[in-house]
Amino acid sequence: MVLLAIESSCDETSAAVMVNGELKSNIISTQLIHTEWGGVVPELASREHQKAIIPVVQEALQKANINKNDLNAIAFTRGPGLLGALLVGTSFAKSLALSLDIPLIEVNHMQAHVLAHFIEEPKPQFPFLCLTVSGGHTQLVWVKDALHMEVIGETQDDAVGEAFDKTAKLIGLPYPGGPLIDKLAQVGNPDRFSFSLGEMPGLNFSFSGIKTQILYFLHKETQKNPQFVEENKADICASVQKSLIDMLLRKVKKAMKEKNCQQIAIAGGVSANSGLRSRLQEMGEKEKWDVFIPAFQYCTDNAGMIAMAGHFKYEAGEFTDQDVAPLARYSL
Ligand code: ATP
Ligand code: MG
Ligand code: FE
Repeated sequence: MVLLAIESSCDETSAAVMVNGELKSNIISTQLIHTEWGGVVPELASREHQKAIIPVVQEALQKANINKNDLNAIAFTRGPGLLGALLVGTSFAKSLALSLDIPLIEVNHMQAHVLAHFIEEPKPQFPFLCLTVSGGHTQLVWVKDALHMEVIGETQDDAVGEAFDKTAKLIGLPYPGGPLIDKLAQVGNPDRFSFSLGEMPGLNFSFSGIKTQILYFLHKETQKNPQFVEENKADICASVQKSLIDMLLRKVKKAMKEKNCQQIAIAGGVSANSGLRSRLQEMGEKEKWDVFIPAFQYCTDNAGMIAMAGHFKYEAGEFTDQDVAPLARYSL
């Protein structure tokens, strides 16, 4: 079964080819235009997707050595994401499926982030717990099987990726700041400053308080020393990163206990964070859990994960009609 997958939910235009569950190509074009605006501008994202989608799909087919007439199905991200961006991928997938007379498969982007774990070995066994941490979401997901997932805890305000990006902005780092904080944190002292996060009941999270706290903290410190940020950047990054990871891991531990679970996976863009990866590994060794961490190329948005989800849906016979419309909000 030859499957083409399309991802266009935010600022990555991506296409992948999967043959019988094996990923043959995964082309990702990241939109650089947003950097100068300090965040993703929805209207610009749609236009960039329109420009990139045909060359990206062509490259994915070429790299997989597949002719479009060999395709058996097309999977695409239906949501959640930016509506205009999703429309580009959805319309493209619909037209190509119609013209080739092959089935269409809609994919939930957050389900796909979790299923990225099935692209390569080692793969978790159902059921397992997944912490999905990205630019728009922070969720604890109980994964019963490939197509049945339940959110058992989530953020009540900002996503953790947003907290990384907003912190970065406050200390003058360009968008997206998450990876830059990660890099600076590696050479900083995580215990130098302390930031406290509000504790939400149960398995829920809150990350919106930290940016105000950092704002006031920086304001106070730069009044005493105008060079404060420049002189202490690495320590600020390490300290903020530590408190974000502390919060995530505290809830992971709680959820693992509640579910009496031994397998933990992380997914989404923030799962590329080196601090989170190593501290989860450590916690796993201590608690005797099996820890699943995706390869870097499957953490942030990519069509490979959409293909993986599409593959499971194809096997389950879950196809989509031509009148499907994208959804900006789309729960698991
Ligand atoms: P969603 O999946 O919720 O719709 P999204 O698709 O925009 O949102 P992803 O592409 O999965 O999110 O992840 C992007 C986020 O990951 C950004 O906030 C970015 O800063 C963050 N990120 C990427 N790498 C790292 C890293 N090494 N450390 C911390 N954050 C990171
Ligand atoms: Mg992105
Ligand atoms: Fe994503």
